[in-house]
Amino acid sequence: MSKITSFHPPERTLMGPGPSDVHPRIREALSRPTIGHLDPCFVDMMEQTKSLLQYAFQTSNELTMPVSAPGSAGMETCFANLVEHGDKVIVCQNGVFGGRMKENVERCGGIPVMVEDTWGEAVDANKVAEALKNNPDASILAFVHAETSTGAQSDAKTLVELAHEHDCLSIVDAVTSLGGTALKVDEWKIDAIYSGTQKCLSCTPGLSPISFSEAALERVRNRSSKVQSWFLDLNLVMGYWGSGQQRAYHHTAPVNALYGLHEALVMLQDEGLENAWQRHHINHLSLRAGLETLGLDFVVREQDRLPQLNAVSIPQGIDEAAIRRELLNRYNLEIGAGLGALAGKVWRIGLMGYASRAENILLCISALGTLLNEAGQSVDTGAALNAAQSVLNAHS
Ligand SMILES: *Cc1c(COP(=O)(O)O)cnc(C)c1O
Repeated sequence: MSKITSFHPPERTLMGPGPSDVHPRIREALSRPTIGHLDPCFVDMMEQTKSLLQYAFQTSNELTMPVSAPGSAGMETCFANLVEHGDKVIVCQNGVFGGRMKENVERCGGIPVMVEDTWGEAVDANKVAEALKNNPDASILAFVHAETSTGAQSDAKTLVELAHEHDCLSIVDAVTSLGGTALKVDEWKIDAIYSGTQKCLSCTPGLSPISFSEAALERVRNRSSKVQSWFLDLNLVMGYWGSGQQRAYHHTAPVNALYGLHEALVMLQDEGLENAWQRHHINHLSLRAGLETLGLDFVVREQDRLPQLNAVSIPQGIDEAAIRRELLNRYNLEIGAGLGALAGKVWRIGLMGYASRAENILLCISALGTLLNEAGQSVDTGAALNAAQSVLNAHS
């Protein structure tokens, strides 16, 4: 074997479905000295992280903390703790991630009742109401707020209200919405929610912020069986993340990764949550003006579009994978491919967190325009750049 040397990744611009660009401040925070995970200084930082997360989620829920693993583990934490054998769970599916919720319910021994919507559309509240009415024994409603596989946003407030009218708890996937689009856990009375650090928080992948309401915690405390996952059992995890200095060892926290999250949340606090939502919105309008001038059509109808995930159809006769490869090779720019039902049919262009900024929009439009022209589409890249820039000017 030849001698292996250090790995130095290229500097990319990450405009896919995640991970998104990590802010330099966060990269610096990750390299600070590692200290013990029970060091009083570290415990103080954990408490700050919890309050910053409460701000990001807009909640006063006591149980608000990051799970030491990526978004998928946050998803699993919600299902493993709240679903017991034989529990009926209404699961909405309008993309890839609803399908994973179904898997989770099944693996917890629960019975999923699926409410299906076309990929690219929001969850239909009427269908959910119907399913809740037809399944009075259901105990949970689960849905994805921001479906990253399609770019559609669902009306979380209305869906949670419906759940409560039928005495169900709600489990909400906010992996892509947190920090990028309006999300109000207490006002919308969400019971259990999970997110991720690598989408709109501009942080590295690998942590999953969660928040549980008192009602959800009550359900966890009163389970008739043990949570089958030792690692994700909140009754045990809270011995470490619970309040005060009385912390017991559960697992070694990912110390430096948590510095990164802390820094990301300080940045969100400094920018202001509403300002972050507004920035994602304006940058979406700018990117959209450019993409539409390039002749690209959005998959999701206007009122359901996520600002941070822009799914557009591939023009006829274009080799979509070749374009993505060239974007990466020539421009160090990553955009996302279609997933599941939309594989090969769409590009997914993310404007998440630190990636949601003017220079990225202009780079993406000019690079895409150039490659589309080379591939035989006759598009006006200059006009597209002007269209994107005028939106930015109008809001500056
Ligand atoms: C990315 C994503 C996940 C999974 O998060 P990982 O960090 O990749 O495990 C779950 N749900 C949605 C909607 C996502 O976009």
